[in-house]
Amino acid sequence: AGTPAEAAAHVSAGTAPAAATRGQVDITNVRKSFGATEVLKGVTLSVPPGGVAVIVGPSGSGKSTLLRTINHLEKVDGGYITIDGELVGYEVRGNKLHELREKDILKQRTNIGMVFQSFNLFPHLTALENVIEAPIVAQKRSKTEARKRGLELLDRVGLKDRADAYPRQLSGGQQQRVAIARALALDPKILLFDEPTSALDPELVNEVLDVIRELATSGTTLIVVTHEMGFARDVADTVVFMDDGLIVESGKPQDIFANPREERTRSFFSKVI
Ligand code: ADP
Ligand code: MG
Repeated sequence: AGTPAEAAAHVSAGTAPAAATRGQVDITNVRKSFGATEVLKGVTLSVPPGGVAVIVGPSGSGKSTLLRTINHLEKVDGGYITIDGELVGYEVRGNKLHELREKDILKQRTNIGMVFQSFNLFPHLTALENVIEAPIVAQKRSKTEARKRGLELLDRVGLKDRADAYPRQLSGGQQQRVAIARALALDPKILLFDEPTSALDPELVNEVLDVIRELATSGTTLIVVTHEMGFARDVADTVVFMDDGLIVESGKPQDIFANPREERTRSFFSKVI
């Protein structure tokens, strides 16, 4: 499963995306091991352009690893991932998969924004400088243009008036909103969130979730790992339950929360809701 020939067939079967339909993600039978431990055991998931998939599941089930494979921060051992039909991290030459050169991988990553639990802002840069770093360095945008767009993005996350603040001068919720603005700066096709509110004090969770809610209606494809079940219920098109390296089941929030098919899903929800 997940052979190069299948990957090639998959890619050539993809149709060229129109501007309004960017961000189709197809994950096909992805496997990943760390040493002898297989942490992704054949994961298959598609998210349509503009779709919102929320991944839930116990700690250690492989959620972060799956997100990291989507922007090739982890190499897969089997299967493949495409975004708008283009293989992530690999290309097909002849009948074989070859890993892309670092420069091409970096270029692919500009299509993918990622927000981590721990914000990961550059501490020595202001909020605005954090947001405009990538557009200036990776896309060679002019400083003036990048600043203008950066301020628009900070406005979008409600932080225009904190543009000149350093991360240490901001609350956790504000830092995470800057991180979201930064992830948006390259106009990505898809945004990945890995437990974006797990490091926040409870009273700061909603200001971050509200920003993600707004993004969910904006046409950008979102894949969000979270333990916030209320958010999943409100915002997800599809809720995906992972356990032990596999997708146990997925479905519309109203279906999966009310009528989980699998005992493992039922048991997980009974503990977290
Ligand atoms: P989750 O995000 O669902 O909590 P992870 O994807 O972080 O799960 O981890 C899945 C499993 O893979 C865990 O058992 C974890 O210890 C292991 N793991 C994750 N990253 C590494 C790594 N870089 N090296 C070795 N083991 C890892
Ligand atoms: Mg994780």
